[in-house]
Amino acid sequence: MALKDKHVPKRTCVACRQRKNKADLIHLVRSQDGIVIVDISGRIPGRGAYICHHRGCWEIGIKQNRLEYSLRTKFSSDNRQALIDFYNKLLGGK
Ligand SMILES: [Zn+2]
Repeated sequence: MALKDKHVPKRTCVACRQRKNKADLIHLVRSQDGIVIVDISGRIPGRGAYICHHRGCWEIGIKQNRLEYSLRTKFSSDNRQALIDFYNKLLGGK
């Protein structure tokens, strides 16, 4: 039996709804105080959502409230700005 067909975990992007390998998505977590943070380590507990490394997905996720809906929260303006800053840095100023 081949071992190379090992199961790869897949997750769905909240914006484009495509299923992708977990490693190709960014994990966002709503922390206990209601702030949404980017989970770089993949180990932060809490309600989470996944989103692609694409600017369009982040714009849909943040501006069309998909992330808020998925995470069952409302962004404060600071929190929203922090996420916009994060993806601008992550994806560059293209
Ligand atoms: Zn996406």
